[in-house]
Amino acid sequence: MIVDDRTHRDAFAKFRNPRSTKVGYHIGDELGLCQCEFKWFDSVGDLIHHVLNVELPSFAYDQDDQDNFRRRIARALRWVAVEGLSEEARADLNQVDWGCTMYWWGSLEDLLSGKTQFSREVLGSFAVKRGGGSGVMAVEIPAFVEFLRCCCKSDGGPGKAPSSDNSPPYTRH
Ligand SMILES: [Zn+2]
Repeated sequence: MIVDDRTHRDAFAKFRNPRSTKVGYHIGDELGLCQCEFKWFDSVGDLIHHVLNVELPSFAYDQDDQDNFRRRIARALRWVAVEGLSEEARADLNQVDWGCTMYWWGSLEDLLSGKTQFSREVLGSFAVKRGGGSGVMAVEIPAFVEFLRCCCKSDGGPGKAPSSDNSPPYTRH
């Protein structure tokens, strides 16, 4: 896949509205060199394809590294198309030391449910930002979706640097 096509696909995955997609993930590199972002897909198959063919080539420049990581990532993800985006598979994926961490994956509903530590942090940060109690009402979902686009940027977002509105970082990742 050529670089421009990768960039285009990546931009598209970030731009999509999670309300009209099935699954997404929140990924970043461990050193914080690149922005940690949400990306959204129509299917688990598309998500796997994006990890292997868009994320991996951007992190592993060396072809031998890439081949090695590709095998290990594919092995970690071998059941998710059938069994879903489990926490076990995410832990397996994060055992691969390709420099990139999958902090969360699932559907928008999963994120809203607050079942994982990560989703609780996101919901908590959103609650602080809008100055209310926990939980996201249906009418607030568009605002929540907007919040997800900028909640964890390395360029001065609340996760990485002091922010003007005193939002605490939700990111302990
Ligand atoms: Zn993040």
